[in-house]
Amino acid sequence: MNTLPGLPELKPSTLYCIGRNYADHAKELNNPVPETPVMFTKPSSCIIHDNGTILLPHGAGEVHHEAELVIAIGKTGKHIIREQAIEYIAGLAAGIDVTDRAAQTRLKEKGLPWLLAKGLDTFGPVGNFTPPGKPGQLEDIDVIMEVNGQIRQEGNTRDLLFPVTDLIVRLSALFTLQPGDLIFTGTPAGVGPLKDGDLATARIRHRGAELSSVTVNVAHS
Ligand code: ZN
Repeated sequence: MNTLPGLPELKPSTLYCIGRNYADHAKELNNPVPETPVMFTKPSSCIIHDNGTILLPHGAGEVHHEAELVIAIGKTGKHIIREQAIEYIAGLAAGIDVTDRAAQTRLKEKGLPWLLAKGLDTFGPVGNFTPPGKPGQLEDIDVIMEVNGQIRQEGNTRDLLFPVTDLIVRLSALFTLQPGDLIFTGTPAGVGPLKDGDLATARIRHRGAELSSVTVNVAHS
């Protein structure tokens, strides 16, 4: 995809992803709660949009949904301070950090990078980006995953171990954030498998009002 939905002036750049950012999700996978954010990236070729299709790799084990709040960066920044972090946000969207959990488990055991579990084509659905909203909205966003109309995950950004502004501060201390970079901010508990024929929807809401959603099909590649 050449631009981000809702932000036609931005081309997707680096997809930064944060792992284990909700304590209840870290625990469900028997991971320790981290003292600093777990960071990894996905290629921009992961991105699909509403009505797209997640392609399950041939011979893959369990491929999991991870519903997440996704932040789009609107301008270049390095060493961003907390008080100014919100100024770098161009928009918010619902997204899914699709994960080949079986591959990730094998890679973790060998101490290898997660690219082959996280970075495949179609493994990054994102919905329409909406403005970041008033101060305080970022800290009260429901993150919801539905599969075939049933709720599988339901969390709120008030439970993030590292809040959005903290992630921008920490990422920009290490990397020059650029327009079109995305931050997948982590997933709440309830991750689970996606199967051929599933219809998967991630949503973000603020006090009952839907901000963004993305609905995708699931099929064998
Ligand atoms: Zn994730």
